[in-house]
Amino acid sequence: MRLDAVGMRILSVKVNGTKASHAYDGEVLEVFFEEPVKAGSTVTVRVKYEVVEPRKGVWFVPVEGGEARQAWTQGQPEDTRYWLPTYDYPNRKARVELTIRARKGLVVVANGSLLERRVEGDYERWRFRLDSRIPTYLIAFAVGDFYVEREEHNGIVLEYVVPRGREGDIERSFSKTKEMIDFFEEYLGVKYPYPKYTQVCVEEFVAGGMENASVTILTDSTLHDEKAHVDFRSEPLVSHELAHQWFGDLVTCRDWSNLWLNEGFATLMAALWKRREVGEEEFAYELVSMMDSYLGEYKGRYARPIVSRVYGVPGELFDAHSYPKGALVLWTLANILGEDVFRRGLKLYLERYFEKNADTEDLRKVFEEVSGRQLDWFFEQYVYNAGHPALKVKYKWLPEEKAVEIEVEQTQGKDSLEEYRVPIEVLILGKDYEVRREYIVERRRHVFRVSVPSKPKAVCIDPEFKSFKALTLDVGAEELLGVVKSCRYVYPRVMALRVLREKGSAKIVEDLRGILLDEEEFWGVRAEAARTIGNIGGNTALKVLLEALEKVKHPKVRRAVVSALGDFKEKEVGEALVRVLENEEESYYVRAEAAVSLARTGYEGAFEALKKALDYPSHNHVIAASALEGLGRIGTEEALEVVSKYLDRDRPLQLRYAATSALGYFPTSQKVLDLLSRQARSLHPRVRRGVVVAASRSLSPRMIPLLSKLQRDIWQFNVRAAREALEKIKKHMEKGEEYRKLREELEKLRAEERRLSERVERLEMKV
Ligand SMILES: [Zn+2]
Repeated sequence: MRLDAVGMRILSVKVNGTKASHAYDGEVLEVFFEEPVKAGSTVTVRVKYEVVEPRKGVWFVPVEGGEARQAWTQGQPEDTRYWLPTYDYPNRKARVELTIRARKGLVVVANGSLLERRVEGDYERWRFRLDSRIPTYLIAFAVGDFYVEREEHNGIVLEYVVPRGREGDIERSFSKTKEMIDFFEEYLGVKYPYPKYTQVCVEEFVAGGMENASVTILTDSTLHDEKAHVDFRSEPLVSHELAHQWFGDLVTCRDWSNLWLNEGFATLMAALWKRREVGEEEFAYELVSMMDSYLGEYKGRYARPIVSRVYGVPGELFDAHSYPKGALVLWTLANILGEDVFRRGLKLYLERYFEKNADTEDLRKVFEEVSGRQLDWFFEQYVYNAGHPALKVKYKWLPEEKAVEIEVEQTQGKDSLEEYRVPIEVLILGKDYEVRREYIVERRRHVFRVSVPSKPKAVCIDPEFKSFKALTLDVGAEELLGVVKSCRYVYPRVMALRVLREKGSAKIVEDLRGILLDEEEFWGVRAEAARTIGNIGGNTALKVLLEALEKVKHPKVRRAVVSALGDFKEKEVGEALVRVLENEEESYYVRAEAAVSLARTGYEGAFEALKKALDYPSHNHVIAASALEGLGRIGTEEALEVVSKYLDRDRPLQLRYAATSALGYFPTSQKVLDLLSRQARSLHPRVRRGVVVAASRSLSPRMIPLLSKLQRDIWQFNVRAAREALEKIKKHMEKGEEYRKLREELEKLRAEERRLSERVERLEMKV
């Protein structure tokens, strides 16, 4: 029998009570059985081992050394083997009992129910057991000086465990847990699977959260004060990890290639919770931001099939293809089948694979069973192939025929399928009518005609974002403004606002001003309007954005306004941003945004203002972290002096990360290189990630040796990023200086063009 066991000292191995021979190479422990094991019989293997300071799996805080005040585990993907000899792969499940001895006064939490707690001198022994089968990557515990709040809900013990002193923040982060459990149970038709649910917040966590069965570990940076609550919420994280208790923990992906069955579902369920809690508009905007995140990865990094066997280490699969793209594909399926049928499928899937593993084919068969429909085409095009349908839509009003002609073209390139089958709804809004049509787009080009009584005010494509696709609108500014003003759905309005960025004119800015300033409007649409105005640029845009800075109250819209202002170089913008940064009445996140924008404006007072901002207290140190980024963008020797003070291990992790990644903005001097090499030796993977970010910002060939090392990083989630940064630098070297100069020229030309077109417009108005 082979057990995964890394970096241990094996003291003894017994099989059924008798000493057994074994071999150990530092990674795999092989146990030899005297006699062949009969099928169906039980063998007890007892391994006595020691592991001092595991390199991962169990983490002691502070991670960089010093006296430990907390310990916690992170098993996913394959790190449990660093502290527990075990078969460490998701496709086998076991019941778990853990006994943990900790100094008296500390609190221990782990999977399952607490069976026993016994004082032994200065120590205390805690014994936990979970009578459900789980994969080894979900075996977990945490130890620390914690405050515990406990309640019961429908027979489930709920525990909220936070570092002592943070008791006051529990309510804001976790008060929705009970309602979420009720909602998921109701939506899925399957009860929460464990006797208890503990959520424990730990310091210096290596992820946002980890869904260990019945004991989710979360970063303590999700805890926040009243002031942060206006633009920061824990619910997205809390609901995501809770949803995993069904998707991932109860039913587990058979292998990492099928990871999307964990992450796609958790992402979708969190979005569905959002829909229930804050409504359709927030939900729609969440779908848009999922699409943005997937397209960001697709355009800037790579395309892969959602289910892929091609990867270096499993950590590479925890990406925007598994999470948001997975969620959007599932949501598309829900819309094709109807949400009721979709929910019946989820119930059957969870019941059939209860405490077992499943893969994508299992899921497909379940949905085929409940719907009575053939779905191989769906999984083939969205899950087993890379890329996505890219639809380009044109439409025009035909006054003679009293009809709207809609032309839909599939424009995806060679990395995607030639033709997709895409269901699309179209909503046409007129003066006193509303027409809704459904089409299936399956060829490269389609033309549809819809008869309507009069010229439409707006044509809205896929109004509720029911279908996964990239969308471009090839229509004029007037049509786009029609959608922004008349459509009541978020998705078409956001798409129209984005296309308007390319059509820049002062008239459009004037038209969007009303939306930006209207506090009744959905904040997401207002924020998009602010970005569009900023992108269009010019004097009118500047005036409108400064006016918005005076008038707009919603903190998320203010953030967009402040960010858009960063594109302007005028002195008054710099002054306005300094006022925002200094103003304690502003929200933390608006001030943080102002710090970055300020650096972008090139304002002469930026350095002093940012230096001061390093001392402003804020949630998660966001203001100071953004100030460090701003100082990086300023890029002077004196800014480097300030930034380098935040690299040390006695600084909060967020600032160490921010300072490390800010180093990438400075010229790659020997000094900067030395600082980065030091950070690359940090024991915390997040600091090492900062080095990767810095390298991909600087694009300097001098970073290559550092990256070569980091692409073999022991922390799997850093591996792909390091490899990509390396490739990026190599490509950049090929393109060379010539290319950079061309881009600068182009930027200048664009600014000139904007200036001219505004002048022409003003002249036209006079005429
Ligand atoms: Zn997850």
